[in-house]
Amino acid sequence: MPRRKRMRKVAAPPGFRGYKPYGNRHGSKEHVDLLYEEYEAIKLADYQLMNHQEASHLMGVSRATFARVYESARRKIARALVETREIRSVFGNASLDHSWFACEDCETRFNIPDNLTGQHCPLCKSENIHSIKEQI
Ligand SMILES: [Zn+2]
Repeated sequence: MPRRKRMRKVAAPPGFRGYKPYGNRHGSKEHVDLLYEEYEAIKLADYQLMNHQEASHLMGVSRATFARVYESARRKIARALVETREIRSVFGNASLDHSWFACEDCETRFNIPDNLTGQHCPLCKSENIHSIKEQI
């Protein structure tokens, strides 16, 4: 039996569904899937400038696993840049510590505290929202 992948803690989903190159003349190619945990690894290491020890601790994985996820993320982003490919964010093996939602109308992403019952977008008040986990 294949080993079950451990879930990686992701503090917040990326604030985008994808990135598209523009100005390329080679037409559209197969996109690159960037997993939530890969986005998180880049965010922690390259944006928040954490060392791998701290970052792996936050994500609830070993340093070796963190290094693998981080390496994979960098290769995907480099590939997208060099080969002018679109990047799409994909749920992957993430475990989110809140219930996150996405608004269909304004594309914002937000979480709803447990004690709040009314479910609408905090930005545009739309009720056209869906749980991010169901997006896969
Ligand atoms: Zn909205």
